[in-house]
Amino acid sequence: MHALGRVEDPDLHKDLVTLGMVKGVEIDGSGVRVTVELTTPACPMKDRIRSDIEREVAAAARAEGAATPAVTVEFTAHVRSASASRKGTPLEGVAHVIAVGAGKGGVGKSPVSVNLAVGLARLGARVGLLDGDIYGPSLPTMLGLDDLRGEIRGEMLVPFEVHGIKAITIGKLVDPDKALIWRGPMAHGAFKQLITQTLWGTLDYLIVDLPPGTGDVPLTLAQLVPLSGAVIVCTPQRVAQDDARRAIRMFQQLNVEVLGVVENMSSFVGDDGKEYDLFGKDGAKTMATSMNLPFLGAIPISMELRRNADAGIPLANWDASPAVANALDGVCTRVASELSIRAARGQLVQPTLSVVSHQKG
Ligand code: ADP
Repeated sequence: MHALGRVEDPDLHKDLVTLGMVKGVEIDGSGVRVTVELTTPACPMKDRIRSDIEREVAAAARAEGAATPAVTVEFTAHVRSASASRKGTPLEGVAHVIAVGAGKGGVGKSPVSVNLAVGLARLGARVGLLDGDIYGPSLPTMLGLDDLRGEIRGEMLVPFEVHGIKAITIGKLVDPDKALIWRGPMAHGAFKQLITQTLWGTLDYLIVDLPPGTGDVPLTLAQLVPLSGAVIVCTPQRVAQDDARRAIRMFQQLNVEVLGVVENMSSFVGDDGKEYDLFGKDGAKTMATSMNLPFLGAIPISMELRRNADAGIPLANWDASPAVANALDGVCTRVASELSIRAARGQLVQPTLSVVSHQKG
């Protein structure tokens, strides 16, 4: 334990013992087995923590004049809930609700939401995905739900269990060919029903794909559920950044933590191996830095990403080029660490929104 007290969690900047992450130490002959409970199964620092433990245990053995022991590190994970205030609500079993927003449409907010959800699940988390883009739901296509039938239990919707996640979308509840024209209160009602009347069960992360812009649905979401944070999707283009800034300001006004910015459609690698910056270079990264927000990673333009989204087979993105798979894993682990960092700092508070209505009479 003394040796483990010298190993720091690189994200949380405290040692493993102080953080209560050491769940077991067994010393058996010449071997040491350490069990470490991470704050997320999607922890990007596993390898670093493992090698730091090996180094410190070896140093402790040397100091005692003992032979260097064989060290085995086992990882478990427990995602701590960000808020106790969901008790008694249908979201009681959900540790974190994460909104994915964008200032404008077409920047790839929905595919980023899908890849974030599926990617976190691939890394071992229990994940739900809510298609909150009630004006233009694209999850039925991107998740390949066309041939599946929705199920209702009592008054509750049963989410689809696909690609390792639980998902629900308005696109499976209304005629997909009818344009979804919602007035403000209807949009509020439809969205509220989707989020609060779905049997989510126990989840580490519930990802909510919001409609683009700063309309009714994000407001409803912020009022309805304590959000752990928002992820903003943006392309490197100037016009996309201007809109993304507005979306960021909206979340900040609602007291929702902005976890950071993802740059989508960052660059394109042609058959000639050359990188083309179709929409400019590093625009979203520069914007994130200028707004003092974390940059959560860049996802390239990839034909495979587009093809797999249209075919509804998101897991195939990890069989695509290593550059794509690494970019997606990078975004997933970065989002998970930003949540862990904030939860450890105790920064995740329920947003409070005061709405003053001025009515005559
Ligand atoms: P939004 O949800 O922001 O409105 P869309 O879902 O409409 O964005 O995305 C636009 C289209 O671009 C989608 O058909 C999607 O498959 C495609 N797309 C998004 N990101 C990428 C990418 N990085 N590479 C290739 N195609 C992408």
